[in-house]
Formats: sequence, C-alpha cells, structure tokens
Amino acid sequence: MNITNSEKLFAEAKNYFPGGVNSPVRAFKSVGGSPIFIKKGKGSHIWDVDNNEYIDYCCSWGPLILGHANDVVLNAVNETMHNGTSFGAPTELENKLANLILTFNNYIEKIRFVSSGTEAVMSAIRLARGYTKRNKILKFEGCYHGHVDSLLVKAGSGLITFGNSSSAGVPDSFVNETITVPLNNKQAVTEAFNTYKNEIACVIIEPVPANNGLLIQGKEFLQFLREICTENNSLLFFDEVISGFRMCFCGAAGMYNVKPDIITYGKIIGGGFPVGAYGASKEIMSCVSPEGNVYQAGTLSGNPVAMSAGIAQLTECLTLNFYEELEKKTNYLVDGIMKNNSFSLFKIFNLGSIFWIAFTKQQSISNAEEIDGDSMKYFKILYHELLKQGVYLGPSGYEVGFVSQAHSYQDLDKTILAFKKALTLLK
Ligand SMILES: *Cc1c(COP(=O)(O)O)cnc(C)c1O
Repeated sequence: MNITNSEKLFAEAKNYFPGGVNSPVRAFKSVGGSPIFIKKGKGSHIWDVDNNEYIDYCCSWGPLILGHANDVVLNAVNETMHNGTSFGAPTELENKLANLILTFNNYIEKIRFVSSGTEAVMSAIRLARGYTKRNKILKFEGCYHGHVDSLLVKAGSGLITFGNSSSAGVPDSFVNETITVPLNNKQAVTEAFNTYKNEIACVIIEPVPANNGLLIQGKEFLQFLREICTENNSLLFFDEVISGFRMCFCGAAGMYNVKPDIITYGKIIGGGFPVGAYGASKEIMSCVSPEGNVYQAGTLSGNPVAMSAGIAQLTECLTLNFYEELEKKTNYLVDGIMKNNSFSLFKIFNLGSIFWIAFTKQQSISNAEEIDGDSMKYFKILYHELLKQGVYLGPSGYEVGFVSQAHSYQDLDKTILAFKKALTLLK
C-alpha cells in the first residue's frame, strides 16, 4: 500500500499543528503509523491523497449517517450558501431545524443551537448549575462529553471519587466540583447522592456510551438515574451527541423511554457541518439568556449553511424504515464477520448502526473497567490489515464504527471478506 503523499503531508502538518493534527485521535497514535490524508468522499467510500480507496466506517465519527457528499444535503447547502453564509441575525432555517428536532421529541420543548458538541455540553452544564443553583456534577467513567474543563475528569481509586483531571490545565477547583462513578453501578450513584446531599446540579451520562468502546447500559439503570435525580432535585442530563438520531429519530431517551431533563445533540444534526444543540423544558430553558440570566452566545450559532445541511439530513432520516434498514445492514455486517471468527478472538457489540470491536471473552461490557487495555495490541494489527484491504475504521480500538445509509450490501460483503483475511494474521 502506497501512502507516500499522506506521509509527506503529515510531515508538513507537524510543522503547523501540535502532533500534526487538529484533533488528537487523527494522529494514529494508538494504532501506529502515519495517518491517511483524505482527498474526497462519496457515499460509503473515501479516497486518500495516494488514490487508495476505502469503505469508510468512521463516517467523520458519526455525523454522516447518509454517507459522504450526499446529494440531498449538498443541494440544500449549495442553495443556502449562494444567499450568504452567515448573518449573525435570525433566519427561518433555525426555526425549521428546531421544529424537526422538537416535533418528535417528548422530552424537551426548547433548544439552543451552538457550534459543537463540546459547546452544547459546556453550555448545558452551566444551565443545570444556574437552574438548580448547585455546583457539583456527577459523571461516569467511560463517558466522553467533549473537552469541557469540568468533564475532563477521570475516576480516582475508590467507588465515588473526586477524580483526577485527565488533562493538564484544568484547575483542581474545577475537578473538585465533579464526582466520577463507574457506569452501571447503582450503589456508587446512591453513595454519591448520600455524600453530597443537595449539592449535585446534574447527573450527566451518554445514555448509549459510545466514546470509550460501546458500553451499553440497561434501561433499568437509566430509569434508576431518573428516579434518584427526581428524588434529589437534580437534573438528569443525557448527552446524546452520538446517540441522538442514531438508533431512531427520538434518540436514546425515546428508545429507552426514560425522560431526561436536559439533552444535548451534535454530530448528526449538523449533516457534516459544525452544529450542536442543548434543549430542555420551557421552564428550564427560560433561564438561558436573553430570557434568563444564564449567559450563552455564539457568532456562528444557528449558521444557515449548517442548518440547511441538518434539515436535509434529518428529513432523510424520517423516511420510512430508514432506521430499520440501517440496523439490518449493521446486523448483516456483524453476523458476517463473526461467522468467520471461529476462534472468538474478538466480539462485536452493536446497537442500531453503531458497532464496536472488542478483544474480550466477556459476553457483555457495561463499564470502562472491563475493557482490557492490553488487548488493544490486537486491534492495532487488525486495523492495519483492514486498511491495506480498503476498510477504514476510526484509528483506535476504543472508538466505535458506524454504518451509514450509503453502505451497500456489496460494501458489507467486501468488509466481511477483509475481516476474514485479516483474522488469519491474528491467530
Ligand atoms: C462527540 C461528542 C461530544 C463532543 O462533540 P464535539 O463536536 O466533538 O465537540 C460530546 N459528547 C458526546 C457524547 C460525543 O459523542
């Protein structure tokens, strides 16, 4: 496999950007080797600057549920763009996207658009604190919520802990407002509420944790969080930046039928453009400026080009059997790969069109501690072999893969075959 041009560009990029990239995982550090520089994408395929072609299961880390350069999205963007790209004043497009999101949502009544998932979470945390007049937040080890200061906290030792910052530059005083507990552990959550009575503004969770493997939680645990939050006048915060519009139009909240107080969205709602959103009841959202005193603003918030991409993409997602088809394809892929995996070297966990390859003997994995970090050496081998055979996954064994509407059964069959060949190397 020739990647000379990618290597050249990466060498140059290292002069410009820390580690040569604008987001760390792109640097291929966890799989080794040089990152592939992408030239173009269409449907389920991407091409690199050396003209290698890949079937893409990264899909920009989730946003591209219709695949690359979808014609409906491109047409909408094109039309909007020619009338100006940003006004810093309201446009009808914001109403339209908000209407699409809210009409089918039983849990939130108003939203605010921002420009990334991180920004949505950061703003919603401020809202939760402003609304409850409390400072502490409870999060789960193994959930990612963007690079918000107070959420870059990993568990220390012990069941409930003020963790350690997982990044330099986060003051201890911030870390001290964040309580970290393991996923799928009622006892830890209960203890946290007992210890910090009337101090916890919100419990934030990815209802489908998909940023550190795919750590599927049971409905019962999410329902338990709902109840304990209600009892303690804390807000339940579902970070649906990945899960929103992924398994169904009503998100994980709808799928599990558990009511959060605050929801954040991102990724899919922007159709490949930078959009995030946070939403809640009218009452909670009335705390947001200019109605209330929780300040939050953005020069490019509700950007018309991004809004039109989001509207086009979500409208497609509403078509009949959209999610059923996606799930069917994903199951076909997973079953196909596993049929050839007779030594059970790894498992694939999947939900809707999200899948995660885990080198484990366990039947299920529901918290971060159960992931065997050592097993990532196998993922590395698998990764490069798949790449050689034209299958592109996100470059880390902790990352999930996505099947898009654009993936054909021919793509899936090719991928199954590529896995079969790659597996011979792993034995
Ligand atoms: C991707 C993601 C974020 C961060 O969104 P960005 O757009 O990368 O800032 C936050 N929360 C969850 C659950 C995510 O998957």
